[in-house]
Amino acid sequence: MVNHGVCPKCGKPTLHVNVNDVMGVLDGESRARCLSYSCIHCNAVLGVQIDPRATRRPKTGKRSNAPN
Ligand SMILES: [Zn+2]
Repeated sequence: MVNHGVCPKCGKPTLHVNVNDVMGVLDGESRARCLSYSCIHCNAVLGVQIDPRATRRPKTGKRSNAPN
C-alpha cells in the first residue's frame, strides 16, 4: 500500500497538485521565479519553492551597488 500524503486542510490525498508560477518578492521587488503547489481539491497552498527551471538572470545595469 502506497502511503500518500494528505492535504492538511481538506484531508484528501494529494495525488495531484496544482503547480502555479509565482514570484518571490523581496523588499517589494519581484526577484525570483518560484513555484507554488496547491491542493486540487481546496486550493490550499502546500508548498512554494524557487523554480529550479529558472535561468539565472543576473541583475546588471541600472542598480548601482552603493557601498554602505
Ligand atoms: Zn485540500
